Amino acid sequence: MPERTESESRKLLGRLRDTLAEDSAGQTRLDRITHIIADSMQTEVCSIYLFRDADTLELCATEGLKAEAVHQTRMRLGEGLVGRVAKTARAINTANAPQEKGFRFMPETGEEIYSSFLGVPIQRLGERLGVLVVQSKVARSYSEDEIYALEVVAMVLAEMTELGAFVGEGAALSALHKQPQMFRGSVGQEGAAEGNVYLHEPRVVVTNPIADDPHAELRRLDDAVQKLRGVVDHMVSHVKNGDREQDEVLETYRMFANSRSWMRRMQEDISRGLSAEAAVEKEQSSARARMEEVADAYLRERLHDLDDLSNRLLRILTGQGADTGAEMPENPILLARNIGPGELLEYGRKLKGIVLEEGSVGSHAAIVARALAIPLVIQAPKILTEALNGDHILVDGEQGIVHLRPEETVVRAFREKIAMLEQAQERYVGIREKPAETLDGKVVALTMNAGLMADLPSLEGSGAEGVGLFRTELQFLVRSTVPKRGELAALYSRVLDAAQTKRVVFRTLDIGSDKVLPYMKRPEEPNPALGWRAIRVGLDKPGVMRMQLQALVRAANGRPLSVMFPFVAQFEEFKDARRLMLDTLEHEDKLGHVMPESYEIGAMLETPSLAFAPQQFFEMADFISIGGNDLKQFFFAADRENELVRKRYDTLNVSYLGFLEMIVGRCNDTHTPLSFCGEDAGRPLEALCFAAIGMRALSMRPASIGPVKHLLRRSNLDDAKAVIDLARKDGAQSVRPAMMDFLQNSL
Ligand code: PEP
Ligand code: MG
Repeated sequence: MPERTESESRKLLGRLRDTLAEDSAGQTRLDRITHIIADSMQTEVCSIYLFRDADTLELCATEGLKAEAVHQTRMRLGEGLVGRVAKTARAINTANAPQEKGFRFMPETGEEIYSSFLGVPIQRLGERLGVLVVQSKVARSYSEDEIYALEVVAMVLAEMTELGAFVGEGAALSALHKQPQMFRGSVGQEGAAEGNVYLHEPRVVVTNPIADDPHAELRRLDDAVQKLRGVVDHMVSHVKNGDREQDEVLETYRMFANSRSWMRRMQEDISRGLSAEAAVEKEQSSARARMEEVADAYLRERLHDLDDLSNRLLRILTGQGADTGAEMPENPILLARNIGPGELLEYGRKLKGIVLEEGSVGSHAAIVARALAIPLVIQAPKILTEALNGDHILVDGEQGIVHLRPEETVVRAFREKIAMLEQAQERYVGIREKPAETLDGKVVALTMNAGLMADLPSLEGSGAEGVGLFRTELQFLVRSTVPKRGELAALYSRVLDAAQTKRVVFRTLDIGSDKVLPYMKRPEEPNPALGWRAIRVGLDKPGVMRMQLQALVRAANGRPLSVMFPFVAQFEEFKDARRLMLDTLEHEDKLGHVMPESYEIGAMLETPSLAFAPQQFFEMADFISIGGNDLKQFFFAADRENELVRKRYDTLNVSYLGFLEMIVGRCNDTHTPLSFCGEDAGRPLEALCFAAIGMRALSMRPASIGPVKHLLRRSNLDDAKAVIDLARKDGAQSVRPAMMDFLQNSL
């Protein structure tokens, strides 16, 4: 880069900074800025267009075009050259604008006499703010150098817009992050919550985009990048554990951290007058813009990695850390791109709600949110760009809608909704002690799913008859090392104490797939959901499972004990796991520990294969519990975590219901107690259908027990079964529509 153009760029930024430092109104500043840019770049026109709303750009200041057009000329996103720059987030440089595809003539601006056009996006970290344009009469293409200079200026404008430098008169100059916004996502966990935004990773604020001393800035960047490389190297050597995806991410981190072109671009930005942090952010913004265009999931992930790395670098440069930043506000609603189950557990019940830009309903983070009964909205796009720590926010987990900085009327309606939900909960309190007995006298046992000590108080509050599924892996997920046998025994013992005489079914460690323990070595697997997980790990490497079984026997200490093994796919696996349990009992007995008063050993039916196991399996199992989350994904070959396919197949699909009914039949033949413990058991309509096809035990999140019991107590199972049979006979794909009609007419 020639020294002369660099110093010109710096001079231009210096003049901009002086203008911004003046105590003047937003509009005056914008006007001066267009003048300075036109003057420095020796071009007749410089205009700034800013977004008036998500879809409309408005001419907010100009040097060279007619003054009357300011705040009058508007265009939609994608319309004309300016609209196209905004839409594609890419520069347009043309010597003959009127000939350019999509050109739209705006007579009120008087621009017809200008032939050449250069427009660059004003954007900040994926947020489109506007377009900066220069035009001149002579037909010429702007040089690479001029484009670069204009991009650097646009970056400074973006930062200043973010900091509110242009707020004042004019509708388009209203401050950012102040307007009410609604986001439509998907339901992750029902419920409604009102609170204040708490960002999992607060955004870094750059207050000094322009710097005087490029040498000092280059040194700062160098030091920060060195530090970053150190952090990444440390991560690679300490965290790399054979998990293919995680290792890949780490290696990509390392690659980016050492990328020369990334570094070179940032150095160039600095030599143009940007501060080190503004340079990092400028490159991060272009990466985010690219991210939006990339359809390929793999490439998008890599761009996300670069984004994460830029965030780390910004934190090093500004000293604004994830934990030293904002304090948790009252009634915190957590906002994150995505979050793992372990991290979520660390926040625990403090959170009133969770909103994720990504996330999926079948993920274990969603299961944790459900276990904690925290309303969760997933797939809420771009909310992180808009939200600021402490913003007022409403999470409607019933509809998957989020209101950020809501208007008073919305708040009022929302509060009414919360009051109605609370009333419904009160109605359920009235039936808490009553059985889930249907109108035709059939009783369904309703138990709850748990995984934390903190879940146990719900046992009483919800009216659950016991714990039908205790997910033991949650304790393993929140730690950085394998828990000790004594610790586990103490914990399980406290769970049994809290349950008093109620039955608790402990499921042995179910890891693998998306439940990854950072401290456990894992082989590289092409498809972890179909891979080495749950009982497969337990049988191949029985050390941890044996330790867990010992802890369970010691915790029972003379009380009844129920254990079930997850993800059993064939009889042999169940036999082996059962043998391990029997050996453990024998061994513990020899060591002098008190034996359980009684014990039962069950299996989770989560793969279709087990439904076709030999009769002897059904005879040997003391009980069977259907893990519908996994069973459904394997039945339909549709990943429970993949939002593209997950919703395609209804749980009430006739094939799936028929399959479940077959399992009921096989268990009835051998008198094997059967329950269903997947998330679907907690949905009233699904629960009613399961009961109608013969299931008599359902395990669900505590908050679902009331609604499920309420519906069962008002239903006649024979009638419901007749509706199901008729829908099947009619060739329906799902019995849902017929059941909905039935409920509407009969309740
Ligand atoms: C299931 O698969 O339905 C189940 C209960 O297990 P998890 O969701 O923990 O895999
Ligand atoms: Mg499962």
